Amino acid sequence: MMQYLVILLDDTSVSYCHCDNPHKERRLICLDDLRAGILYAMKQNLMIQFVYPDYELPQEYIDLIDTIDHHDIRGWYAGEAPADVTVFDKSVLAGETPVSQGVAVLRLTKAELFENVEAIGKILPKMQRLNIVVTDIETITDEELKSYAAVLEGLASVLKDEYLAGRMPQLNLLTDRMMLDRPNHCNAGVENITLAPNGKYYLCPAFYYSNPDDSIDPQDIRNQQLLRLDHAPLCRHCDAYQCRRCIWLNRKTTLEVNTPSREQCIVAHTEREASRRLLAAIREQAVFIPEVEIKELNYNDPFEVRKEW
Ligand code: SF4
Repeated sequence: MMQYLVILLDDTSVSYCHCDNPHKERRLICLDDLRAGILYAMKQNLMIQFVYPDYELPQEYIDLIDTIDHHDIRGWYAGEAPADVTVFDKSVLAGETPVSQGVAVLRLTKAELFENVEAIGKILPKMQRLNIVVTDIETITDEELKSYAAVLEGLASVLKDEYLAGRMPQLNLLTDRMMLDRPNHCNAGVENITLAPNGKYYLCPAFYYSNPDDSIDPQDIRNQQLLRLDHAPLCRHCDAYQCRRCIWLNRKTTLEVNTPSREQCIVAHTEREASRRLLAAIREQAVFIPEVEIKELNYNDPFEVRKEW
């Protein structure tokens, strides 16, 4: 069931997920389209997530936005108002880390992630929740996967100390799977859609960024069943529940929205295994111990064992 409407307020609104925003020129959504989007969300009972650019909006936009209950997604800029979701880039790792009240998103390339494990380990305890988004994960090699596993091990060690001390910062790559007993995918096109500054609807911001001609009719999404988990032959059997099951990456890498690339699967399984180890490490010692059980697997790529299901 559809639950969220993402509204990109400007062409330069911050990117908070896998796809970079290629737009450099400001183009604010027109007031009529914004009003229509808000009305649509009200009629469909959708929670709106407004995604902001790095400049202050005109007062009439702020007034209109404030007419409806919503969440704010903003990039982090000095002096910026607090947001429900604040998006950081690697520059946050170099300076004084602002304490994030809500969800912090840190977008990094693989190389930036591998080079900055220590710095991430330092900011992690200051965050309530940190979502790391690796922006080029679809090109990960087997060699890089070993580095990725080492990164997760390093961050798991930080989290273990925090848990044993009675604190519970969350890191999407490790703690989500420890809390989940069912899939928690992105579900673009099934639970959320996006209104872009051109007044058209898209499955998610990435579909707008990569091709503005890829718009959808929100009332009649073509072949919507292909976006759903029950039509994803590999994913519906998988218990790497923390995986985003990114349909944009799926289409980019396999040309099918419901078929993940090998890279997406092995990364998700590497995270699952690191979560399993972390859970085992804190079991019986931490103040808070999730009830979830994570079984040990003898494979990293579910495609290799598909006949065993
Ligand atoms: S499909 Fe979901 S996970 Fe993938 S880029 Fe779009 S919003 Fe992000």
